[in-house]
Amino acid sequence: MTEEQRKERNAQRLTECNPIFRRKVAAILSDLEGHGWRPRIQEAWRSPARQKQLLADGFTKVRWGMHNATTEDGNPDSLAVDILDDGQPNKESSKFLLMLAASAKSHGCVTGIAWGLGQEDRDTIRSAIASRDFEAKVEIGWDPCHVQIGGISVREARNGTRP
Ligand SMILES: [Zn+2]
Repeated sequence: MTEEQRKERNAQRLTECNPIFRRKVAAILSDLEGHGWRPRIQEAWRSPARQKQLLADGFTKVRWGMHNATTEDGNPDSLAVDILDDGQPNKESSKFLLMLAASAKSHGCVTGIAWGLGQEDRDTIRSAIASRDFEAKVEIGWDPCHVQIGGISVREARNGTRP
């Protein structure tokens, strides 16, 4: 996608996010852009119908997730985005994924880079991020492009907790 399309898409997807989370995602995007990447928000808010379909197709493990958050009056208030590398979408390098995780962490967010991994692999990722060793050889968890707000559980978000 062209730079214009990518920026337009990111701007549109940001409008689907909770305002506090939106500022964090915007900061993560500019961090990555500052390092020469072309991050693309693939998806921000998801309707209940879309979540149901993704669950049926095995792309998510939850019936309600951070992507489904709404305001009290039912408008999109997403607490998660999926950020791809537009240079090689869905084939992201571990370098991109580690930098995304590091930037997310510094902005109070978490990614799914370590989800589903054993303790040893999680520790390897943690120390690579801590030492900013983005060339490190690491195992990658099942949802590394997923970025969500930190410090709030899915249950809390579902019950209305917001940053
Ligand atoms: Zn996601």
